[in-house]
Amino acid sequence: MSEDHAAVRIEAIEAVLVDLPTIRPHKLAMTVMNGQTLVIVRVRCSDGIEGIGETTSIGGLAYGEQSPEGAKLAIDQYMAPLLIGQDATTVQATLARMGRQVQGQSHAKAAIETALLDAQGQRLGLPIHALLGGTDLSSLPVLWTLASGDAARDVEEGLSLIEQRRHKVFKLKIGRRSVAEDVAHVAAIRKGLGDAVPLTVDVNQAWSEAQAMEGMAALQEIGLMLVEQPISGRNRRGMARLAARFDVPLMADEGFNDAQDACDIAQTGAADILALKIAKAGGLHATAKAAVVGEAAGLGLYGGTMLEGSIGSIASAHVFAAGPAQAWGTELFGPLLLKDDIVQERPAYRDFALQLPTGPGLGLKLDTDKLAFYRRKA
Ligand SMILES: [Mg+2]
Repeated sequence: MSEDHAAVRIEAIEAVLVDLPTIRPHKLAMTVMNGQTLVIVRVRCSDGIEGIGETTSIGGLAYGEQSPEGAKLAIDQYMAPLLIGQDATTVQATLARMGRQVQGQSHAKAAIETALLDAQGQRLGLPIHALLGGTDLSSLPVLWTLASGDAARDVEEGLSLIEQRRHKVFKLKIGRRSVAEDVAHVAAIRKGLGDAVPLTVDVNQAWSEAQAMEGMAALQEIGLMLVEQPISGRNRRGMARLAARFDVPLMADEGFNDAQDACDIAQTGAADILALKIAKAGGLHATAKAAVVGEAAGLGLYGGTMLEGSIGSIASAHVFAAGPAQAWGTELFGPLLLKDDIVQERPAYRDFALQLPTGPGLGLKLDTDKLAFYRRKA
């Protein structure tokens, strides 16, 4: 490239709230989702290139402390004024300068970084994963969450997805009912799908440590691939006691955000596996750093989702593909949970895997008509 990249400036940043319907109610321990709100970020640069990014949350403020509306506010009010006029090509340096005046806000930061990397990839003619070290993977395995709340319906859904060759590993969302009812629900799905189908459960912090002792003992008997965040993410000592007591691998999700957490979890033995998410870490680069710390410490890695739509899921796929292997798979099924989309060509899922787009940047294009249609009206 012969252009002077240092001359490329960030000219404008727009954050748009979009409300999309889900294909069915998604029942989690803490809430039931009937739709998903995305923040779509458009960063326009002085060379005419526009990068796009996205963030969201799970059930508004039900999963974590950051909402889509809060992310938009942080971008509009605080982040955009610090970024406009800055160098669009020195992405990490530009973000680090902004970050000195913006604490937290990992979701908003992930969306902005995605848009800057999308623009930079378009500028250089390279996919985002190539900006992060590159990959020879063309797809990532993706599990599906059975979360209708009804075991018979979940079994039917699971068998149909295996038949379609879309998913062959399933995650069950539990923690809404009593431990005994949840264990019976998991056992019914295990029976319906057969012993050969790998199952995981996510309790989303719903259990006390005593309930987890009872629940994990029973779940271990049923035969699960892993148990995700049974107790509060803040209770690392409790997680360490569970990890030491049970053979079934324990995954940290709400209790793990970034490289610093990975270091602490490794030191305290508070999990066997880390659920990586770009929204928790605060971007793609921060996710890659957390993955490397986890890998070095001998922890298992899993490619998690904040139930992002297509843009956030594909951004995650680029960093997951470029980083250390997610030996425990990924759950980048967010786009499949949504009835419609705001990108022109939706991500492809086949042979039990998400296909990585091959175009420059994210490899996705906004559908501006759909964006206008689903945009939240004042
Ligand atoms: Mg989780």
